[in-house]
Amino acid sequence: MAKKQFKTESKKLLDMMINSIYTHKEVFLRELISNASDACDKLRFRSLTDDSVKTALDAYEIRIDADRDAHTLTISDNGCGMTMEELEKNLGTIAKSGSLEFKKENLDEGPESGAPETADTAEAETDENASNVGNNDSDTEQKPVDIIGQFGVGFYSAFMVSDCITVVSRAYDEQTAARWESKGVDGYTIEQCEKPENGTVITLHIKPDTDDENYSEFLDEWKIRELVKKYSDYIHYPIKMMVSKSRKKEDSPEDKPEYEQYFEEETLNSMVPIWKRPQSQVSDEEYASFYRDKFFDYEKPLKVIRQKSEGTSEFEALLFIPAKAPYDYYSREYEKGLQLYSSGVLIMDKCKDLLPDYFSFVRGLVDSADLSLNISREMLQHDRQLKVIAKAVEKKVASELKKMLTDDREKYEKFFAAFGTQLKYGIYADFGMHKDVLKDLLLFTSSAEEKLVSLSEYIGRMKEDQKSIYYAAGESVAAMKVLPQVEAVIGRGFEVLFLTEEVDEFALKMLHDYDGKEFANVCADDVDLSTDAEKELLETENKASKDMFEYVKEQLGGAVGGVRFTNNLGKHPACLSSEGEISVNMEKTLSKMPGDKGIKPKAELVLEINMNHPIAERMKNLFETDKEKLGRYSKILYAQARLISGLSLDNAAEVGELVCDLMLE
Ligand code: ADP
Ligand code: MG
Repeated sequence: MAKKQFKTESKKLLDMMINSIYTHKEVFLRELISNASDACDKLRFRSLTDDSVKTALDAYEIRIDADRDAHTLTISDNGCGMTMEELEKNLGTIAKSGSLEFKKENLDEGPESGAPETADTAEAETDENASNVGNNDSDTEQKPVDIIGQFGVGFYSAFMVSDCITVVSRAYDEQTAARWESKGVDGYTIEQCEKPENGTVITLHIKPDTDDENYSEFLDEWKIRELVKKYSDYIHYPIKMMVSKSRKKEDSPEDKPEYEQYFEEETLNSMVPIWKRPQSQVSDEEYASFYRDKFFDYEKPLKVIRQKSEGTSEFEALLFIPAKAPYDYYSREYEKGLQLYSSGVLIMDKCKDLLPDYFSFVRGLVDSADLSLNISREMLQHDRQLKVIAKAVEKKVASELKKMLTDDREKYEKFFAAFGTQLKYGIYADFGMHKDVLKDLLLFTSSAEEKLVSLSEYIGRMKEDQKSIYYAAGESVAAMKVLPQVEAVIGRGFEVLFLTEEVDEFALKMLHDYDGKEFANVCADDVDLSTDAEKELLETENKASKDMFEYVKEQLGGAVGGVRFTNNLGKHPACLSSEGEISVNMEKTLSKMPGDKGIKPKAELVLEINMNHPIAERMKNLFETDKEKLGRYSKILYAQARLISGLSLDNAAEVGELVCDLMLE
């Protein structure tokens, strides 16, 4: 029979498995059991909508058989099975795995990326792993390269303990079965064979013991029992094994009993799901291991939330807030949703109706006995029930996050770094319908020590005479800090929020106010901090120079809606401010979005000139003596103001020439 080759990535992964000196080799059993359970789930799912599937709900089972003589361990299930094509596709490549993207990312980023696969390379990768594993044991920061055991590399992990693996599988609809066999990186063979029932039988030929490794313990009954308890206790199909027992021989005398050994089938797992166990009896480690198993995240969750609701809708929820946003979180590919269980049995993998978009990062599950097993068919009827649950889950998540914000600021800031953007989108979405849930969860960088503050913290330390919440919006804190208007407001002792994300200002506009305090963009016309006397003087000056402003505006060819003096620019000569709903920064954001440039709303710009800067006097002068020069200077001043605001120049060449002329004067 011809030997077939593994795909490159699979080979790399295999290499890592085979040469792994990872101490937790035992996780292979968890992986195979989890696959068997998935296979039963798949068939059971199908039976919900396909009457030709006859397997009864209580007939699904996973079996483990240890044969010490043959040195083999067999894991079998009566789930969906695989056709010959599927066997090749699923086990010949890792391209089928749900967790592939993660694995690939990390493999590609690995130290040996792109290097030829020599024996040396394999060594190097193994070493890399070894050092990470060491770290991991002491519970310090985990490097992404350490993927073994961190979150299941699936089927291939069996190569950590086996020197030959045979998989015989028969898909539910097929008459024939297929037999796949591999001794590791050399490749695999595949052929047709017979198997009486649907399902999969995986036989591991366990490696011989070495000085360092006692592989044969995986054939010991007590070891298997321990591993099932440790990793797979909650699996909701029975994991059965023939276990040896001893009993008194029937015909042996009572005073001199003789014993005989016999075998009896035993279910090793309690099948009680983790979320049905009393909270006090589940360790953090168990939650973490459940989480990475079910939700393919190698990092421990930032927060575990348990919820139990009695009354109109009875349900239990086990929710996780990830520590990091998945790589595809802010993309279209990301699918939100919670697993939905009915009395411990999975009925839907990603029920998106259970989570609002702004909490789409939450992973976990909801279990309700009130839901029928056939929910996919009767979804509509249950819609109301689901809505009630979803509402309760939303409330719970919001309150837990608020609690985290007050009780564990450091953790909350970590959370916010990962998912804060999503909350802001949530405020903006649906015409601000959810702003009340979300407004207290927001954080912004403040000019005070450049730390994150919540809106209520900002309000709490506002100056007595301060009417609004001041903010600036721009690319970076550094760029905003030097904006003339920002400097002026901070200079007067006020705190300014620095909005650096594109969505920020849109979200604030949607919020409109917080606790009755409106938001005011310090770079727009809504902020005026001057005293009455200062205002009066400014007004007089502005009136007096009306004609000059009109002339400058004309020279700028309609680029601005107005020109005026201002008195709050500190040492800066000029700036751009905006009038109306659209700020300068919003215009920038909008202009980046796809769509017709012509119809996009633009900020109404006003060129403000510092009344107290020598340039003001110079302009007034030129208006009387040299209008042509004033025209040229105006263009330079305007270009300068645009650049400070982070806007580009349409006429950079012209401006360059003007500046050059000035230099030559
Ligand atoms: P994952 O479980 O993350 O998808 P694995 O490497 O554990 O990755 O398994 C690869 C694929 O092989 C599975 O997605 C599944 O399609 C298939 N598979 C593995 N074991 C079984 C099994 N016992 N029955 C049916 N299919 C299986
Ligand atoms: Mg798996």
